[in-house]
Amino acid sequence: MISLSSFHPSSTTATATAATATTHPPQQCPAFSSPPSHLSLPLRHPRQHLVVRCGGGGSASESVFNRDSAATRVSNDHLDVSKRDVKLKIAIIGFGNFGQFLAKTMAKQGHRVLAYSRSDYSRAAKEIGVEYFTDADDLCEEHPEVILLCTSILSTEKVLRSLPLHRLRRSTLFADVLSVKEFPRSLFLQLLPKDFDILCTHPMFGPDSGKDGWGGLPFVFDKVRVGSDQSRTSRAEAFLDVFRNAGCRMVEMSCVDHDKHAAGSQFITHMMGRVLEKLALENTPINTKGYESLLNLVDNTARDSFELFYGLFLYNKNAMEQLDRMDWAFEMVKKQLSGYLHDLVRKQLMLEGNNDQAEVTFDKPLMLPSPTINPPQIVPSADMAEKKHDLVVVNGTR
Ligand code: NAP
Repeated sequence: MISLSSFHPSSTTATATAATATTHPPQQCPAFSSPPSHLSLPLRHPRQHLVVRCGGGGSASESVFNRDSAATRVSNDHLDVSKRDVKLKIAIIGFGNFGQFLAKTMAKQGHRVLAYSRSDYSRAAKEIGVEYFTDADDLCEEHPEVILLCTSILSTEKVLRSLPLHRLRRSTLFADVLSVKEFPRSLFLQLLPKDFDILCTHPMFGPDSGKDGWGGLPFVFDKVRVGSDQSRTSRAEAFLDVFRNAGCRMVEMSCVDHDKHAAGSQFITHMMGRVLEKLALENTPINTKGYESLLNLVDNTARDSFELFYGLFLYNKNAMEQLDRMDWAFEMVKKQLSGYLHDLVRKQLMLEGNNDQAEVTFDKPLMLPSPTINPPQIVPSADMAEKKHDLVVVNGTR
C-alpha cells in the first residue's frame, strides 16, 4: 500500500488523500502563506514567483549537511570540482524510459552502471553498456556505491521496501530522481538505515528535452543526509558531477521548496498538455508559432506515462491548489469575455437611434490574485459585467 502519512500529516493513505483532494479545497500552500510584498503579483507574470527565496525544508537533526539560510542556490562549485574524475559503481533501480536515458550518459562518462527493474531489460541494457540484473539480491551483492531510484512515483515505496538493503554496504548513497521531492525524502528517512547517505534530486528535463545534451538544463538536488567524512562528501559530489560535467545548471534547493515551485510550473505544464491533448489538436496549413508551441507541449507531456502525471498530482501536496487556480482562471477569462460582450450590447441598446458608435476597450485587464491574497473564488457574472473600472467607453456617452 502506498502510504503518504509520512508527509501528509492529515492523511494516512494515498486513497484517503485522493478522496480528500476531490472533495475539499487544498490546504493553503505554505510558499504563498505570508509572502513578501513584492510577491503579490498577478498570475499572468508567473515567472516572478521564481524569485521566491524560501526557508529550508529539513530539520537540522535530519541533515548533517550545512544548509544556507536561503535554501535555493545556484551552485557554481563545478569550477572547483571539475578536475575530479571519480568513477562510481551506480545501480539504477527502475530501468524504464528515464532510467535508461540517464544510464546512457553515466555509462558514456565511464561509470560502471548496473540496473534492475521489474521487467527484463537485458537487451536494452547491453546496447548501452549497462550490466543488467534480473534479481535484486544479485545486484545488491555487487555493493554499488550509489543506488539511484528511477521507479515511478507510485511504485517507489513498494520497490524500496522490497530491496534487500541488508546486502548493501553499511555506507551506501541512496539517491532518487522522482519528480516530486518531499515524498522520497520522507520515505528514505523513514525506511533507510541511518548509515546510508541520502541525496534527493530532480533532473528538470527528460528524454525529449534532454535528447541533444543536458547543457544549461536545471538539475535540482537536496543533500538530505550526507555524512561529513571525506569519503562520503566526495562520493556525493562525484555523483553530482555526472550532471555538472554534462553541463547541467545545478540548483541546490530543499525538497519542500522544490515541490512548491514544481506544482506552480511543472504540474501546470503537464496539466495544460493533457487538457490540450483531449482537444486532439491538428496541424493546419497556417500554424502560428504560438500554435506550434501548443502542439509541442502536447507532444512533450503526453509522451510521459500517465502514471508519472498522476504522481505529480497525488504526491505533491501543492498540486491541488494549482488545479483550483487553473479552474478559477479559466472561469475568470470566460467571464471577462462575456462581461465585455454584455457591456457592449448594453451600450448599443442605450445608443439605439443614435449614429454614434460605441467602442469599448480594456483599461486594465482583470488581475488574477495570488493565492495568498484571494483563494480562488468565482465572481458572479453580473458582478463582473458591472465592473466599470475594467471597461472604458471611448467615443461613447458614458
Ligand atoms: P514512470 O512511468 O514514472 O516510471 C517507470 C518506471 O517505474 C519503470 O522502471 C517501471 O519498471 C517502474 N515501475 C512502475 N510500476 C512499477 C511497479 N508496480 N513495480 C516495480 N516497478 C514499477 O516513467 P519514467 O519516465 O521512466 O520515470 C521514472 C522516474 O523518473 C519517475 O519517478 C519520474 O518522476 C522521474 N523523472 C522522469 C522524467 C521524465 O521526463 N520522464 C524526468 C525527471 C524525473 P518496469 O519498466 O520494469 O515495469
